[in-house]
Amino acid sequence: MHKAMWLTAVAAAALIAQSELNGAAAQTRTTLDIYVVDVEGGNATLLVAPSGESLLIDTGNVAPAAAIRDAERIMQAAKDARLTQIDNLITTHWHGDHYGGMAELAKRIPIRHFIDHGPNVQPSPEVDEFLAKVYPQLYANAKHTVAKPGDRIAVAGLDVEVVTSAGETIKTALPGAGGPNPYCASFKPGQNNAEDPMSVGVFVTFGKFRTTHLGDLTKNKEFELMCPNNRLGGIDVFLGLHHGVDSSNSEVMIHATHPRVAIINNGTRKGGQPDVMKVLHSSGIHGAGNVHRQRGRRDARRHAGSPDRRPCAGPRCAAATRP
Ligand SMILES: [Zn+2]
Repeated sequence: MHKAMWLTAVAAAALIAQSELNGAAAQTRTTLDIYVVDVEGGNATLLVAPSGESLLIDTGNVAPAAAIRDAERIMQAAKDARLTQIDNLITTHWHGDHYGGMAELAKRIPIRHFIDHGPNVQPSPEVDEFLAKVYPQLYANAKHTVAKPGDRIAVAGLDVEVVTSAGETIKTALPGAGGPNPYCASFKPGQNNAEDPMSVGVFVTFGKFRTTHLGDLTKNKEFELMCPNNRLGGIDVFLGLHHGVDSSNSEVMIHATHPRVAIINNGTRKGGQPDVMKVLHSSGIHGAGNVHRQRGRRDARRHAGSPDRRPCAGPRCAAATRP
């Protein structure tokens, strides 16, 4: 079931990249493959370039059983992509749904480069202990980078630029972008916690194909990045979207970048919020896919303990996420 979801995501990305996806490509890769791993409302997104080099964005959830589950799911994607190592791991920010499976994953596959935004700014005992005791051991024999906007992450065959990190954004537009953003005038600030706005966000270019993953970057940072000028330009596939939570995903981001496809890392009872779906579906998007189909609140109580893992795409998702 999970594999099917990954292939759905891969197919969506590959279709737009106008690339082929078939088993015969085992010897010579020609596609950028994107695996949106279902980590039950957390994030784990794996990009594998035609060169075979890889970029993993986040490692799923932190609770002990969830960390093992999510590390195993990431491994299934890594095996499907025939990876023997993770070349680059971005931890977008220090929340348990983003760094949670890291230590378990590192037991299963070598991770060569750890990238993050720097110190945690939303103290919690679990995170602080992880950063003091576990994380330094994981990158002790690898490379460790604190990302800054404008940095490039080396993935042969892809152009990967850091566009946000530690609350800062790129100040100059990406090539071909930079036009005035008409949605800035009606922007309304939102509320957020301390760590989400710190998210490491990347913009990935593969030929003419453009995709972005901004972690859980919040509306107020979207405004700083996208106003008064649209520094990102247009996007083919928008990844993540902060689980479809409405403290992110303002029109200054979604309407201005005008993605053809969005893949939301929601959970059965997390994200996919109606206001976000309204913004998406009024943006002219071709398709918005939730990793999870969601249930209404009353229905969710009735089905508590039996999460519905059916993949969801297109209008059916929009209907499923109405309260
Ligand atoms: Zn999150």
